[in-house]
Amino acid sequence: MAIESTTESLNKRTQPSGLISVDEARQRIMDAVKPIEGHEKLAIRDALGRVLAEDIISNINVPAYDNSAMDGYAIASSDIDVNAKQGLTVIGESFAGKPFSGTMTSGESVRIMTGAMIPDGADTIVMQEQVQRNDDTIIINGDVQSGDHLRRAGEDMHVGQAVLKPGKLLTPAELGLLASLGIAEVTVKRRLRVAFFSTGDELRSVGEVLQEGQIYDSNRYTLYGMLKRFGAEIIDMGVVTDSRDAVRDAFRQAASIADAVLTSGGVSVGEADYVKDTLEELGEVNFWRVAMKPGKPLAIGRVEQAAFYGVPGNPVSAMATFYQFALPALQKQAGMDEPLKLILKARAQCQLKKDIGRLEYQRGVLGYDNNNELVVNTTGVQGSHILTSMSLANCFIILQAESDGVDKGELVSVQPFAGII
Ligand code: AMP
Ligand code: MG
Repeated sequence: MAIESTTESLNKRTQPSGLISVDEARQRIMDAVKPIEGHEKLAIRDALGRVLAEDIISNINVPAYDNSAMDGYAIASSDIDVNAKQGLTVIGESFAGKPFSGTMTSGESVRIMTGAMIPDGADTIVMQEQVQRNDDTIIINGDVQSGDHLRRAGEDMHVGQAVLKPGKLLTPAELGLLASLGIAEVTVKRRLRVAFFSTGDELRSVGEVLQEGQIYDSNRYTLYGMLKRFGAEIIDMGVVTDSRDAVRDAFRQAASIADAVLTSGGVSVGEADYVKDTLEELGEVNFWRVAMKPGKPLAIGRVEQAAFYGVPGNPVSAMATFYQFALPALQKQAGMDEPLKLILKARAQCQLKKDIGRLEYQRGVLGYDNNNELVVNTTGVQGSHILTSMSLANCFIILQAESDGVDKGELVSVQPFAGII
C-alpha cells in the first residue's frame, strides 16, 4: 500500500497551514487500500450483510409464466365487445399453484386469482371490481384494455440475465431475489479481519477499579460496535500502554492476524512517537492533521501487510473519524461497492456556532416540524469528549470549513446515522 507523504502539497482548497481537507484525506485513504482476496460459500440466509463475490446469472424466468396481477377474470381481448352485450361464461378457475387445465374459446372466461397462470386463450385480466357476476356469467362494466393486469414471464428477471455483480452488499432484498432464482448458496467475500486496541496509560477496562487519574476505556466499545455493525471479524486486543515495546508487540501481533489494524489514541503531537517509530520499523505511516472537528490528528499507513488506521483518542473524535475515514476504507478492503452517502438538507432550529477553517461534524437531532419539513437541532455542547452527544444524536450536521456558523432557519447539510435496512 503506497501512502503519500505528509509533506505532499496541500489540497487546492485553502486550509489552515499544515492541514489537509476532509475530502483530500478521504481520497488518499481510499487510494491507499485495496480489496482483500478470499471467499467462502454460504447458505443464502447466512450471507445476509456479506459481500457477494460472484456473478449471479439467472437461469430461469421470474415470473416463470404469464400470470395475473389481480383477482378477477381472464378473458380474450377480442371478446371485450361481445362481453359488454351478452356477458361471458365462466368455465373454470385458475388459482396460484392450481392452474386451469383447459382452453378458453370465444365467449368464455376463467375466474383467476393474483399470481395464477393465465389460461390458454386468455390475454387480458378484468378486475373483479369491474365485473358483475350472475351464476356462470359475467358482465364487464368499465374500461378494459387488451393486456390489462398481466405480469409477463421473465419481466423481473429473464434467463441469461446478469442479476447481481461481485461487490454487492447482500440485503434482505437480495436474499429474496436469490431464493426466487432457486439459488440456495452463494459465494461471498470472506469477512474482513480487523484487530483493534486502545492506547493510553490512563485507560482501564470495564470491571477494573479506577485509581486517581484513570478513566474507563470507552473507545474499545464504540469501535467494537461500529466494527460489528460493519460486519468485520473482530480481534479485540485490549488496552496497550504508552510504551514502545508494548505498542510494537501489539502491532506485530495484530498484523499477523488481521487485514486491518485500528487503534485509538496516541496519534496527537507529542504522543505519536511510539506509533511512529514502531510503524516506521514494521511498515509505514503518515500522520495527517485533517481540517475537521472533532478529529484532526489521524494516522494512516500499513503494518506489515495490514492496513493501519489510527483514530484520535477523544471519544467523539474516534467515532467521527471512524465513520468518515476508516469505515469507507474498510468497506473497500472488504470488497464492497461504495455505498450511497446520504446527505440531506434540513432547516436549523437553532443557531450553530462555528469558526472558519475546519469542516465540522456537529451532532444533531433530525426530525420533522409541524409542516412535515425536515429540521435539525443541536445535541448541545459539542466537545470531542462529550460522548453523550453521539448518543443523543441521530445525524451529523456537516458544516463546511469555510462556514462561520449557521443562523436559526437556515438550511444545513445533515448525514443521518441510520438508513431503512
Ligand atoms: P489521545 O488521542 O491519546 O491524546 O487522547 C485524547 C483524549 O482522549 C484524552 O483525554 C484521553 O484520555 C482520551 N482517550 C484516549 N483513549 C481513550 C479511550 N480508549 N477511551 C476513552 N477516552 C480515551
Ligand atoms: Mg493517549
